[in-house]
Amino acid sequence: MAVTAALRDILDGLRSTGAQVIAPGDDLYDGARRVWNGCIDRRPLAIIRCHGGGDVAAVVRCAAAAGVELAVRGGGHSLPGFSTSEGGIVLDLSPLGTVEVDPARRSAWAGGGATWATYDAATHVHGLASTGGLVSTTGIGGLTLGGGIGWLTRAHGLACDNLFSAEIVTADGEVLTVTADSDAELLWGLRGGGGNFGVVTRFGFRLHPVDTVTGGMMIFPAERAEEIAGFYREWAHTASRDFTTMLVWLTSPPADFVPDGLRERPAIAVVGCHVGTLDEADAELAPLRRLAPVADLYEAQPYPQLQTFFDADLPAGGRYYFKGGFLPALSDGALSTINRFMHDKPSTWCELDMHHMGGAVRDVADADTAFADRQADFTYNIIAIWDDPSLDAVHREWTRAFADALAGFGSGTAYVNFLSDGSETDTVRAAYGADRYDRLVALKRRMDPTNLFRLNQNIRP
Ligand code: FAD
Repeated sequence: MAVTAALRDILDGLRSTGAQVIAPGDDLYDGARRVWNGCIDRRPLAIIRCHGGGDVAAVVRCAAAAGVELAVRGGGHSLPGFSTSEGGIVLDLSPLGTVEVDPARRSAWAGGGATWATYDAATHVHGLASTGGLVSTTGIGGLTLGGGIGWLTRAHGLACDNLFSAEIVTADGEVLTVTADSDAELLWGLRGGGGNFGVVTRFGFRLHPVDTVTGGMMIFPAERAEEIAGFYREWAHTASRDFTTMLVWLTSPPADFVPDGLRERPAIAVVGCHVGTLDEADAELAPLRRLAPVADLYEAQPYPQLQTFFDADLPAGGRYYFKGGFLPALSDGALSTINRFMHDKPSTWCELDMHHMGGAVRDVADADTAFADRQADFTYNIIAIWDDPSLDAVHREWTRAFADALAGFGSGTAYVNFLSDGSETDTVRAAYGADRYDRLVALKRRMDPTNLFRLNQNIRP
């Protein structure tokens, strides 16, 4: 790739500010250019690891001045690979990974490149937490800006619902502190509108008392999928808001806790996290236990431990393709479609996660954040997982056909963080719905009229 003399000067200038600049030929380059999804293999012009808002502003100004594509990286887990670029600059926020907790005010301040592992470890010391994702390795950045569904959703809302302040570097390289008082519309956009409006260098979250939780999963053989899913949809409506669950069509793990003969077999599981007492959790779990699962992993544990429950199942470097959407209800038609596609899944580890929403998600008004659909009872995520690149097309086609078949049961909107496609205007507009999308466009025109921040579920100005 051609590095112009002007750009070389800019990179040298950035080096002199203390930012770490990693370019092709450097020992660190191959590791630094990698992102979580192994399908993505791009070669940026440089990866610049920023240590503070000043570095970030310098990189933003340079990219804008040089007309070079700019990718912003938090935890690097974007499915479509939005946090890397072919021939552009990657602004890597990973050095901005520290988390400070103010227990008296029940708030946490996290650097824009922190992961949920770091965040939860810091807040847990004080018996506090706010909603993160289901695995500990994802970045707080992309997950929160897109919405954020996790173990605490029904008890404490989406990740973005707990965001009350953000320090942001704008497309002009200006540093702003955004709150509901300083700029309510921008805070609205940061709560669900993705990385479209600037680089968030610091997130301020409200915290809640969460310490030991009861979490895990119950596994049933896939032969009982129809019965268990039918039971679950009734049971989920009786669940308290302390209990966040999801129904997962998966393959049982090759683990000792699964009986002989049932390992690595298609299965259905009720996965969840209860934030009440163990007795309260047991009372809510009792009807499920009466269904005689082949494995019951629910137990009391520190919240950060539950956060790592799925980490090993979704390793970095595997090949992945996701598609998702909202469902107002688990209709017979939706369930039989899911059972049919999961029966014909193209490889062992593909799964479908059906997240139960409601609870605290509905405490926030629809118009208060950019998140697409708070009224849907369920959000699904079709997760194709495979290793062999020659099977890419098979997995993508299966996922797309599955999503098309489920679309008829939903509203047409989708959670943007569960989309492997999503830089096309039609896809993003449909995901947010027309009215919300138009409001996002108005904010984008104010904050980023040249679309410098375009590697995201892009709102075109
Ligand atoms: P990155 O690839 O670094 O960034 C994703 C997008 O956000 C990019 O457009 C990037 O530019 C932008 N961005 C990131 N940080 C910043 C920042 N500080 N300022 C401005 N823009 C920024 N989602 C859930 O809701 N719940 C889950 O439980 C969940 N589990 C997941 C598990 C795995 C293994 C994976 C791969 C994804 C999961 N997701 C989940 C989806 C996840 O929310 C998105 O992939 C999210 O974009 C990841 O954020 P990141 O910072 O790690 O990614």
